[in-house]
Amino acid sequence: MTRQPYRYVRTELLEPDWRRLPGFRDVTEAEWRDAQWQRAHCVKNLKQLRAVVGDRWPETFFADVEADMARFATMPMLLPPQMLNTITGVDDPIRRYMLPIASERLTLSHPLASRDSLHEADMWVVEGLTHRYPTKVLAELVSTCPQYCGHCTRMDLVGTSTPQVAKAKLVLRPQDRQEQMLDYLKRTPGVRDVVVSGGDVANVPWPQLEAFLMRLLDLPSIRDIRLATKALIGLPQHWMQPQVLAGMARVASTAARRAVNLAVHTHANHRQSVTPLVAQAARALLDAGVRDVRNQGVLMRGVNATTADLLDLCFALQGEANILPYYFYMCDMIPHAEHWRTPLHEAQSLQETIMGYLPGYATPRIVCDVPWLGKRWVHQAREYDRERGISVWSDDPRHAYYDPIPSLPESGQRWWAENA
Ligand code: SF4
Repeated sequence: MTRQPYRYVRTELLEPDWRRLPGFRDVTEAEWRDAQWQRAHCVKNLKQLRAVVGDRWPETFFADVEADMARFATMPMLLPPQMLNTITGVDDPIRRYMLPIASERLTLSHPLASRDSLHEADMWVVEGLTHRYPTKVLAELVSTCPQYCGHCTRMDLVGTSTPQVAKAKLVLRPQDRQEQMLDYLKRTPGVRDVVVSGGDVANVPWPQLEAFLMRLLDLPSIRDIRLATKALIGLPQHWMQPQVLAGMARVASTAARRAVNLAVHTHANHRQSVTPLVAQAARALLDAGVRDVRNQGVLMRGVNATTADLLDLCFALQGEANILPYYFYMCDMIPHAEHWRTPLHEAQSLQETIMGYLPGYATPRIVCDVPWLGKRWVHQAREYDRERGISVWSDDPRHAYYDPIPSLPESGQRWWAENA
C-alpha cells in the first residue's frame, strides 16, 4: 500500500445540542425540525446574535463583526438556527465564512477584484439566464437565500444591500422572467442542461418552482436539470417538508419518464455542517426520486484549505450523508476576499494530495471559475507566473486568475504595488 499522510477514521455525524445556546435553551425537537420555525428565528443582526449565544462569545467579537459589517461586508447577516448551531465558537471554520470579522480581513482587495467577477450578468441572454457554456445555462430564479455566505460569488445581486455594496436588482416579475427563460430555451435546442439556481431555489415558493420545472421537462431538448440549494446544508428542514417532498416526487417521476437526469447540488464547506438532519434531508430527496445529490464547496483559507479538512468533509458527505463530493471551487475574485482566497499552486497541490482516498467517481475536482470562460481544472492553466500570481487559461487575456497578493514572493508584491 502506498504511504499516505491522511488517516481515514469513520466518524459518525453529529447534531450539536442546540439547547447549549442560551437563546435556544427552551426550543423543542418539534420546533427545531420545523422549517417555518427555523426561518422565523434566523439571526439577522448583532442583537439577535447576542440573544442566541449570550456571553459565551466575548464582547470584542461582536465589535469585530460590527466593524466588518460597516467596512467590508459584501453580504448581509442571515443565519438559520440550524447553521448557527454547527458553529462551535468564535474560532471556528464555519463562523469564519458565515460571520466574517474585520480583524481577519486583509484590508486591501486585489486590484482586479470586482462585483460579478465571473461576468455572469454580462452573459445573460434574458434577465437571469446566463449562457456561458455551449450546452448549458444557469437560470437565476430568485436573488435571495435562506442563509448568506460571506464569500458569495453573486454578491453583486444576491441579498439585500450592505453599507459597502448597493445590490443590483432583478427587475422583471418572476413569471415574466421565467417565460423569457423558457422561450429562449425553446428557441435554443443546443442547450441540454439547466442549472436552476439563484440565490437558492429553496426561496422559490414550491408551487412556482414545480411549475417551472415541469415546463422545463416539457422541452425535449433538456436532458439534465440541476437544482442549486445550500439550504440542504443550512436549512435541511426545508427539504424535509411533506409538501416539498411530494412535489419533488412528482417532478422526479416526470423526469424519470422522460429520461432526464434530475439532481440537487448543494454547498457544504466543512464537515461540521454535515449533520444527521442534513443526511436525512439528502436521503429524503433521493427517496423522492432525485437521481443524485452532489456537493459544490468553495476552497477557503481558514475554513477547509487543508488536505485533512477537505477529506474529512468528503468522507462525511460520501460515507455518511449520500452526498457526492463533486467540486471545490477556488474562491472568486470578489472584493474583500483576499483572506479567504488561496493561490493556484496551493489548489493544485491540494488536488494532488486528496487523490487516492475516495472512490474515483467521488473524488472531487478542484476548479477555477475563470472570468468570462467558465470552470477549468486547476491543472489546466496554460501559463502560470508564480512571482506575480497570474495564471492564464486560454489565448484570450481576459481569461486570467490572480493569486492573492499577500501569498506572492516579495518581488511579486512589489510589482503589484508599482503596477496596480
Ligand atoms: S447560498 Fe449560494 S447564492 Fe446564497 S449567499 Fe451562499 S453562496 Fe451565495
